[in-house]
Amino acid sequence: MTGRDINLPCTSAALPHKVRGNERKGQDMSIQSVGIVGAGQMGNGIAHVFAAAGYDVLMTDISAGSLEKAQEIIGANMARQVSRGKLSEEDRDAALARIKTTLALRDLGQTDLVIEAATERETVKQAIFEDLVPHLKPDTILTSNTSSISITRLASRTDRPEKFMGFHFMNPVPVMQLVELIRGIATDDATYQSLREVVEKLGKTAASAEDFPAFIVNRILMPMINEAVYTLYEGVGSVSSIDSAMKLGTNHPMGPLELADFIGLDTCLAIMNVLHDGLADTKYRPCPLLTKYVEAGWLGRKTERGFYDYRGDVPVPTR
Ligand code: NAD
Repeated sequence: MTGRDINLPCTSAALPHKVRGNERKGQDMSIQSVGIVGAGQMGNGIAHVFAAAGYDVLMTDISAGSLEKAQEIIGANMARQVSRGKLSEEDRDAALARIKTTLALRDLGQTDLVIEAATERETVKQAIFEDLVPHLKPDTILTSNTSSISITRLASRTDRPEKFMGFHFMNPVPVMQLVELIRGIATDDATYQSLREVVEKLGKTAASAEDFPAFIVNRILMPMINEAVYTLYEGVGSVSSIDSAMKLGTNHPMGPLELADFIGLDTCLAIMNVLHDGLADTKYRPCPLLTKYVEAGWLGRKTERGFYDYRGDVPVPTR
């Protein structure tokens, strides 16, 4: 069975039945179904881990193509886990069967937990929450996977700031252990505890961060990536020498430019802009070369070109 076979668009009427207790890890049955907005690299990874942990997943996107691609990627990633003995074929089939897709955002109103994982732009996220809120059950927890945007500000545009949180997964989601939990100023304890339990059921580890621009991981990581782009911009090193130097000199598994391509250069630029605007410190100014790559539409792996060109058999540096 492939992801494509079972992930046909569905309506709210076709929302999967709640999973049975014996299929679930843990005791807390309050969150059983999860809605995911945005089926890009983060959305598909989040769908993967929730379905594998026994949750019913309903994923939406503005693009039917993105939903289709996400299904293919989840199928391929689960197949790799099966071939490595990390997932049985039976569990893979059951997990894939738990993932449904829809082009109608309002269908997610039926779910217990919504995770917004759309493009890193505040206006996009606000519009999603404004459209979704009238269709939500009163007790649905609303979250954003944003890498940098104020949780308090996003929450204030909804009807439930006390049930709103930052739920920040790392890329690639099926592999990375950490989930950052960010409480907005109004988030209540019950919501925070519910998400801690969800993280535990996913077999991941939570780290709590205060709601300041880019939280912990990206507050530290993005200035390093931005500095690597400045190092390239100023001619201190080439793409290859910068990445080799950082891999071999600091024991990082990926060089910063390779990592930037992996994250997406549009996302990196958006996070730098949030740091720059939010902290009002020139040390966070985005490198003009990063802006130029984004303006060219060279966004990294997802568009097959960034600091490397991925269209051939091996990645080739573009500078
Ligand atoms: P992406 O570009 O791969 O995917 C974004 C998806 O959102 C696209 O499929 C797009 O069609 C969809 N989208 C845009 N507007 C929409 C709307 N109005 N409704 C529904 N879908 C919409 O981006 P990504 O890397 O998956 O990032 C998504 C979010 O996750 C961002 O907030 C980003 O900051 C965060 N994040 C990214 C990473 C990373 O390494 N890329 C890591 C952690 C968190």
